[in-house]
Amino acid sequence: MPLYRYAPVKPPCRLCGAGFEIQQPAAAAALADCPTCGQPVQRSLIHAVNTPKVLKPLSISGAKSAGFTVLKRTSSGEFEKQ
Ligand SMILES: [Zn+2]
Repeated sequence: MPLYRYAPVKPPCRLCGAGFEIQQPAAAAALADCPTCGQPVQRSLIHAVNTPKVLKPLSISGAKSAGFTVLKRTSSGEFEKQ
């Protein structure tokens, strides 16, 4: 479930300060009022917590196709195009 951040429309809220975070189903409607004090709140930020991005190491062919020049160090200490 995504994590939503809510901030009071007229901060600071006496009970929840600058806001609060709550996990809701993505299909759920945004809260209109603070569940703690009933003050009007607005949704400000969304953190998608269930979709961690794992970056794969870039392969040489992938780097070449992305337009990078892949250099290989030769035994003489110089670099040449791979
Ligand atoms: Zn509140």
